[in-house]
Amino acid sequence: MQDTTMDTPRSDMASDAYLRQLQATFAQLPNEITLYLFTAKGHEDTFTRANREIIRAFRQLSAKITLREYDLDHELAKKWNVTSSPTLLIAPERYSIRWLGAPMGEEARTFLEILILVGMGKSKLSDQSLNVVKKIDSPRNVKVFVSPTCPYCPQEAVNAVKAAIEVPEYVSLELIDIQSEPEIANQYAAQSVPQAFANDVLIGQGAQPEEVFVSSLQKLEVQTIFIPDSDAELVETDLVIIGGGPAGLTAGIYAVRSGLRTAVVEREALGGQVATTPIVENYPGFTSVGGKTLVDIMVSHALQYVQIFQGEAVVDVQIGNPITVLTNRRKFLTKSILLSTGATHRHLGVPGESRLSGRGVSYCSTCDGPLFKGKKVMMVGGGNSAVTEALHLFHMGVDVTLVHRRDKLRAQDFLAKQLSDSSIPVLWDTEIKEILGEERVEEVLVVNNRTGETSTIKTNGVFIAIGYTPAVELAEMMGLELNEDGYIRHDGKHRTNVPGVYSAGDVEGGYKQIVTASGQGAEAAMTIFEDLINPYWLK
Ligand code: NAP
Repeated sequence: MQDTTMDTPRSDMASDAYLRQLQATFAQLPNEITLYLFTAKGHEDTFTRANREIIRAFRQLSAKITLREYDLDHELAKKWNVTSSPTLLIAPERYSIRWLGAPMGEEARTFLEILILVGMGKSKLSDQSLNVVKKIDSPRNVKVFVSPTCPYCPQEAVNAVKAAIEVPEYVSLELIDIQSEPEIANQYAAQSVPQAFANDVLIGQGAQPEEVFVSSLQKLEVQTIFIPDSDAELVETDLVIIGGGPAGLTAGIYAVRSGLRTAVVEREALGGQVATTPIVENYPGFTSVGGKTLVDIMVSHALQYVQIFQGEAVVDVQIGNPITVLTNRRKFLTKSILLSTGATHRHLGVPGESRLSGRGVSYCSTCDGPLFKGKKVMMVGGGNSAVTEALHLFHMGVDVTLVHRRDKLRAQDFLAKQLSDSSIPVLWDTEIKEILGEERVEEVLVVNNRTGETSTIKTNGVFIAIGYTPAVELAEMMGLELNEDGYIRHDGKHRTNVPGVYSAGDVEGGYKQIVTASGQGAEAAMTIFEDLINPYWLK
């Protein structure tokens, strides 16, 4: 009882202080904030009334906020292409920000932030976000679906508002209340909020950190992690790690923890093969985890320590003291290099494979599987990858047949059992000799290598998972010795034949598991640390 009576005056005092603070904030804003509310003539619904009440409440804070109301058939509605009631336009002379519905409930927070940012005439984006937003050079029509009861929505909505304020020439924004506009929400299948689309492409599901949102907006695809960009033309380090898969990322963490100034350079997507592995089983800590999810966890962890230069290809390395690493973006001067360049998909090498690549021939079921839902595909291979990916396609609703050149799988028993428990057909002792089709894959020519019998099978796709070949182009360029299987030769402590140059992960051969690659990355980083303190090549 006592608590309740004490609470009321305290909260009144708190809200009075908050109001005074808001009034002071608005008093300092340099710009007028003009709001235009468009409504259907004679149609008074909850959202229209809510708009008026909320705006009235905010106008008590500042005379800088003005409201103008028009019918939907007014010429201004035509000028600004307003067709739904109610639609609230915020400072349309300067920005393209509109609200379909009303800033009710949780969304009042978004509305307050919009008023302050528009009043300031500044986006307040972080420096990192500004770097990304600067790269937007074509229109982005953004829709953010929100609801008044969603506490996560204001964050995503405000991200979009900031982008619309920063680049009004390119970014236009509609904040859409799914209760007020159920038809538009249905059209975009926005059944959860917040969800953000740009140019009708999904760019965010759930509340994203600001930098992740602007990256998604710039790239027009959902990003899960933000990797800060760097303008530096010259970077001096103790260690440059080339390759951002599990080996490189783990080495990055260990090297920085040892006190080495370290950079990870990756020309493609981070995570290597793991990023496109549908399901990873038994990486310690996870019975089963999506490959991309595991990569995101690893990258987020690595980013806490090491700077990552992603989308950057190493074009030249000059061994010297220091070693020079040239990428397509900048120069690194470093004391050591770790090559963790991994391995690339092995090709079947049959006629039709390269011609129809991307037209039914695929090496990535995670990426391309959904396009084959309800269609027939062949999955070639008998190892863990082929079986995992066949199961993935099967569960996705793809009519998949496994084609294996022997009568026994190389895959682990656990996976082999899942395959035999499913109804996935297997063509044993069978090899694909040719992939046929004009514009896209239509059929495959196969041979039974026991009987020699050949036949053609109609199919919409051929997925190939027959192992990997090590990515050793850079190693060869640098004069590194390879072993008889074509992998980088090292001394057991990841030292190659070139002093200061080390290797880790699949490029060294061996077991090719994520956990072994990570282990090799950690080992290599520790060797490098020891060698830089006490260089073995000077002994
Ligand atoms: P893999 O284990 O080397 O198996 C390659 C498969 O492709 C073999 O069955 C092989 O047949 C077949 N093959 C090779 N060349 C071929 C050709 N020219 N034509 C037809 N078939 C051919 O490769 P992977 O399955 O990609 O796995 C690579 C590594 O990643 C392995 O170490 C694997 O254990 C690991 N991995 C682990 C997991 C996991 O969850 N733990 C998941 C995926 C991959 P033969 O059997 O006749 O040689």
